[in-house]
Amino acid sequence: MKDDDRKKIIDENKKKCVCEPCPSYTECMRAGNELLFCVTGKSADCIFEKKGCICPACPVTSILGLKKAYYCIRGSAGEQK
Ligand code: SF4
Ligand code: SF4
Repeated sequence: MKDDDRKKIIDENKKKCVCEPCPSYTECMRAGNELLFCVTGKSADCIFEKKGCICPACPVTSILGLKKAYYCIRGSAGEQK
């Protein structure tokens, strides 16, 4: 994928990402404005526990045809294949 295309996908879908109200989302992620882990990969620096993942209910899951969850811990959809 070209860098321009990738950036466009990230910008558009970041607005739709519903990670923020997720019980596993942390202040650390909020501070770094970290979202859209399914595309950009797991959180680099934040440490946290699995307390549930609301990715299956996220609009990006259907838009991109995602099948996994816990992208913030396990890595992007591509990395989890
Ligand atoms: S699937 Fe999960 S990580 Fe991806 S945009 Fe939705 S809530 Fe965020
Ligand atoms: S990727 Fe899933 S577990 Fe992680 S913060 Fe987003 S909704 Fe929660």
